[in-house]
Amino acid sequence: MNNKLYGNLIFELSHKGRRGYSLPKNVFAEYEVPHAMRRAEDAQLPECDELTVVRHYTNHSANNFGVNNGFYPLGSCTMKYNPIIDEEMANMPQFSSLHPLQPESTVEGALEVCSMLERALCSLTGMQAFTFRPYAGAHGELTGLMIIRNYHESRSDTVRKKVIVPDSAHGTNPASAAVCGLEVVEVKSNTDGLVSLCDLERIVSEEGDSIAAMMMTNPNTLGLFEKNIPLITELIHGCGGLMYYDGANFNPMFGVCRPGDMGFDVCHLNLHKSFSTPHGGGGPGSGPVGVREGLQQYIPVVSPYHGNFAVMMRALAYILSLGRENVKMVGPLSTLNANYVKELLKDVFELPIDDRCMHEFVFDGLKDKSTGVTTMDVAKRLLDYGYHAPTIYFPLLFHESMMIEPTENESKETLDAFIDVMRKIAAEAVAEADVVKSAPHNTPIGRVDDVLAAKHPVVKC
Ligand SMILES: *Cc1c(COP(=O)(O)O)cnc(C)c1O
Repeated sequence: MNNKLYGNLIFELSHKGRRGYSLPKNVFAEYEVPHAMRRAEDAQLPECDELTVVRHYTNHSANNFGVNNGFYPLGSCTMKYNPIIDEEMANMPQFSSLHPLQPESTVEGALEVCSMLERALCSLTGMQAFTFRPYAGAHGELTGLMIIRNYHESRSDTVRKKVIVPDSAHGTNPASAAVCGLEVVEVKSNTDGLVSLCDLERIVSEEGDSIAAMMMTNPNTLGLFEKNIPLITELIHGCGGLMYYDGANFNPMFGVCRPGDMGFDVCHLNLHKSFSTPHGGGGPGSGPVGVREGLQQYIPVVSPYHGNFAVMMRALAYILSLGRENVKMVGPLSTLNANYVKELLKDVFELPIDDRCMHEFVFDGLKDKSTGVTTMDVAKRLLDYGYHAPTIYFPLLFHESMMIEPTENESKETLDAFIDVMRKIAAEAVAEADVVKSAPHNTPIGRVDDVLAAKHPVVKC
């Protein structure tokens, strides 16, 4: 891209008086716009010809990286391939041009989509009913905790204000509990990365009467299956609390096992993660919340209308196009892919918990700690080789976390190529550490000062 000609900002290409449009003759020229409705100064708009505008934006769009450009191993986010047919279904004008205030008799097809999706999600999760109103996973967590709070209040039990959250949990879990006016009690992980039963028993014996719920994701944030779930649900139900399932990691359980069968009472799913919606850059999302029988009446209204309908449409198209048989392959294939990558890299990257993982796993930086090359350096060097970086410095349990989630759609060749590059970077870290530490070298912008960017963001020119 020729930056000088096509510019970083469209304003840099502006020439006073340059026009990219022509309008028909103004038939209202005689009409006086009332003074009070006129702006005092001209709007500050860039003035460019059409071709310059087209090239400027087209060239910038080529700097985007998405699942459709290349391998995107961003752990925790389930950046999986979104089949084109799902986009086509969501974009059908019969659905996309509906208005939320239309009379119900004119939107029966859309309502049928909602109810088909609800039935499909109930059968995948073992829940009784779903609300589609939450717009994201975090919004679903808040909704779910409100359901739990409403349930306790309906029994005049107002002392249950505590929510148990594992120390490995996603940050939204404690945040949602706090927003819901509940108090977070952290339960520790043991050395094999699972919830410590010992610590949980202590919490339950000390504060059982004030426990409203326990939030868990399974597989957990380290990509490990929480095999003690039956014992955990027994403990929590035993003291009168409810179990909340954070379904952001539902992908590997797809068609294999169900949170409802594990004893969870309330759950959310991230349709934009496990059910096919492109979700880079923060949206769009949908975090439907499911409840077991007997909790439907506590579902609050957390947004107007029927939720993020286009995301729901993609989810239904995704489920139907896989079909009852293939849906069962999502979990096993995502698990196989993650284990394949992990096993072929664990001699050069530090694997703190050497166990069979589910859909994702976490390295704690390079195995050879003497090189001084950090997880940040490896992530930046991956960009040079045309890969999106994994999730880094999360989860917080390790200093140099690098969380990799390949997802189920990737071919063996793609995984092998990624493994080669990761091994190459590990070798570079030993032979020419400076090249890795000063990466990226091939991207339009070099290494940014992310601390400065966070503390003093410049969001306009
Ligand atoms: C992504 C994620 C969330 C939050 O979901 P959003 O849709 O981003 O709000 C919660 N928990 C886990 C484990 C996640 O990976």
